[in-house]
Amino acid sequence: AVSEEQDDENDLVPRAPIVTVMGHVDHGKTSLLDHIRNTNVIAGEAGGITQHIGAYSVKLKNGREITFLDTPGHEAFTAMRARGAQVTDIAIIIIAADDSVMPTTKEAIAHCQAAGVPMIFAINKIDKPGANPDRIREDLANMNLLVEEWGGKYQCQEISAKKGLGVDELLDKVLLEADMMDLKANPNRKATGTVIESSLDKGRGYVSTVLVSNGTLHVGDIVLAGTCFGRVKALFNERNQNIDNVQPAEPAVILGLNGAPTAGDQFHVMDTEQEARDIANKREQLQREQGLRTQTR
Ligand code: GDP
Repeated sequence: AVSEEQDDENDLVPRAPIVTVMGHVDHGKTSLLDHIRNTNVIAGEAGGITQHIGAYSVKLKNGREITFLDTPGHEAFTAMRARGAQVTDIAIIIIAADDSVMPTTKEAIAHCQAAGVPMIFAINKIDKPGANPDRIREDLANMNLLVEEWGGKYQCQEISAKKGLGVDELLDKVLLEADMMDLKANPNRKATGTVIESSLDKGRGYVSTVLVSNGTLHVGDIVLAGTCFGRVKALFNERNQNIDNVQPAEPAVILGLNGAPTAGDQFHVMDTEQEARDIANKREQLQREQGLRTQTR
């Protein structure tokens, strides 16, 4: 196994919260994320986010940053959690005000509760004539989830993702929640983090999106991720710009691994390529043995 070094309290600095939006299909997840992406362009950076890389950071007008995980459905969240990866700090549960709390929504809520991930409720589509946000609050109350305006502990915001109403207020609530969590990381150590997605690109070879949870990832680092490893040849941000390092809570696309690690795999920066190769090989052998065992069962 790869040992984890302890961080000295003095090395810790605040980091951005990592947020996932979850909800029933058509309740407005895509519209909300699009609105946030299009209205919050990192200051001084030309061009918006064009790449889909499964995660991106936005810089708000108040200068603060939020990292959004944007993987289809909440399958990735579940898959990652099954692999022991807890990447999400805060979940936004989006519910359409002209509908009700649907089974998928309940599932997402259950996942968050099991993982101890704080939830903020976004009641969407309040611009619609049929919108009835109180019915949503009531649905939630029936699930023992009392929102703040009804005397409970859950932050809740009425929004229209389509018109952009209430979205700034929603993001303020995310930051408030984040402040209470006192999220910190140590940029002065070798990077660790989670693989968000991987693929094989015809021109570039294996391409993985990772989210750095601690430390700083640099070009030239030797990365071990699941059963894959390699020296980082290049790093790109969500704007497809070449970068030379990635800070805690920031996502990046990395080039240079010898394979495509699975979503949810943890990655570590190793001292030598030999060490990375040895551990990767051992893991692969273990996986093969486990595969054989399940086959003969
Ligand atoms: P997703 O499946 O959760 O990603 O939902 P989408 O963002 O694709 O939205 C589903 C549909 O609802 C689309 O037709 C959107 O235009 C519409 N929609 C999303 N948000 C709002 C909103 O705030 N108001 C209204 N009127 N329609 C919305």
